[in-house]
Amino acid sequence: MIEENIYENYSIDFKEKYSTNKKAYYFIFNNRREIYLQNDTQIPLFNQEDLKEFDLDFQLYIGTYKNKEIIVANTTSDRTNFHTLFELYDINHEEYQMATRAVLIRDWYMTHKYCGNCGTKTVIDIKDMMLICPECGQMHYPKIAPAIIVAINNNGKLLMAKHSYHHTSRYALIAGYVEPGESIEDAVHREVKEEVNINIKNLQYVKSQSWPFPNSLMLGFIADYDSGEIKVDGEEILDAKWFKLEEIKIPPSDISISSWLINNFITTHSR
Ligand SMILES: [Zn+2]
Repeated sequence: MIEENIYENYSIDFKEKYSTNKKAYYFIFNNRREIYLQNDTQIPLFNQEDLKEFDLDFQLYIGTYKNKEIIVANTTSDRTNFHTLFELYDINHEEYQMATRAVLIRDWYMTHKYCGNCGTKTVIDIKDMMLICPECGQMHYPKIAPAIIVAINNNGKLLMAKHSYHHTSRYALIAGYVEPGESIEDAVHREVKEEVNINIKNLQYVKSQSWPFPNSLMLGFIADYDSGEIKVDGEEILDAKWFKLEEIKIPPSDISISSWLINNFITTHSR
């Protein structure tokens, strides 16, 4: 996962319907949330002339990146050279990090053109980067869904479970969305209880990660086993067990906080 601060090379700002005559970084997405890369390798520095062939739906200015203006755009045209965000991560970690913000702003802007409460066309509030309904006043902010993920230790062994929604037979850490009304800590205890029927203790927050698939903020925890027998429902969770260090398979990509937590577990318990 990326651990650098996103603001290292980025200054936050926002304007709607912005266009510049200078060359700017263009984060252009298609309707499959794939991103355009020039020569399949880099985020393009474009001026308005370069954009003619793209048929953009909108251009949102979201600040400056490496001392250039940065624009988020969407196109319905189905040209080549678009890549998934996972592919971008493999090509350039830093640009991927910027794209995780860009894609969430794109999603918000595209899905809140009309008020979900009364159906009226929304208008922009530049100061707050918010779409507001002029009729009923409903405010529509970018949507981020908090989710938890936890590495549970039992005398140097790591708990991992096999979810039915994974097509491969991969074992993964316990994870899930935070429910309305509960604290993040409540969410961890509940998910663990629901998925594998055990109780945990010494719950400790470690770090977090923006995970735009589709719009999560992953909050990573470590914890120790407390009590109870592993029991799975056989539907959502097919199996769960304690893995010795040498049995743990390192995830093929290091993009996620999950792989960070697994690697951290191995490092901590190898000592
Ligand atoms: Zn409304």
